[in-house]
Amino acid sequence: MKAAPASKHRRSCPPNQRREIDFKNHCIGPSCVTLIAGPCSVESESQIFETAALVFKAGATVLRGGAFKPRTSPYDFQGLGEEGLQYLKAAATAHGLLTVSEVMDPRDVQLVAAYVDIVQVGSRNMQNFALLKAVGSLTKPVLLKRGFAATYQEFLMASEYILQAGNPDVILCERGIRTFETMTRNTLDIAAVPMLKSLTHLPVIVDPSHGTGLREMVPAMTYAAIASGADGVMVEVHPRPDESISDAQQTISAQTLMEMVPVMAAVRRAVMSAS
Ligand code: PEP
Ligand code: MN
Repeated sequence: MKAAPASKHRRSCPPNQRREIDFKNHCIGPSCVTLIAGPCSVESESQIFETAALVFKAGATVLRGGAFKPRTSPYDFQGLGEEGLQYLKAAATAHGLLTVSEVMDPRDVQLVAAYVDIVQVGSRNMQNFALLKAVGSLTKPVLLKRGFAATYQEFLMASEYILQAGNPDVILCERGIRTFETMTRNTLDIAAVPMLKSLTHLPVIVDPSHGTGLREMVPAMTYAAIASGADGVMVEVHPRPDESISDAQQTISAQTLMEMVPVMAAVRRAVMSAS
């Protein structure tokens, strides 16, 4: 059956019709706030094992870490590839964490899916239609990041490519858009959360790390994301943030993450009890 275009869904999705993605020990959807945390890139076996232990202790349920990295410069670290995926999986398994990592090439979809629980399509590939169709054939959830110049409509149409190919488990991620502002890396569009939740039944999460590019902004924007009704957040965390090979400026410490978690829970409680 052809998926109805997103424009036809311009009404509030009733809470009982929202998509909830079930894993063995965790769900992603409206009944919980999912905390996805980990480094921008898997840099080494010891770095990802150390990070996994720290983010698990803080309360994260999903470990992130890029192995195939979309870098602006071809001379920058491109990721460890399959070796990185092996380390990511092993580190997560040690703590019962789920994993997410990006795939950039349709030819790598099966390889990445063999290692991770959630396959990520990054901002730069949101309209890579061959890639969207390829991840649409998976039986694993896909975390689809909003293109940095994409409208809500274009974002939703990109998700429809995955849904139409037969994969119902798409998680939408707002990660900031490019505007005239230059002090932040991107402008985090918090309005995307209630807007997307009114247009689709899919879970919506927020990435305040890429959304701002500045680690000082990450706690406040995380709380804003929760207050706006996000089903989760994805944050970049490193045992020694300044030593991160990629995206050091926007990477927070495990200590900061630990301090954020009770505030996130309090914000969620406040919003839930008032609505
Ligand atoms: C990432 O999450 O690793 C990433 C590269 O993010 P984005 O695609 O949003 O730039
Ligand atoms: Mn990054």
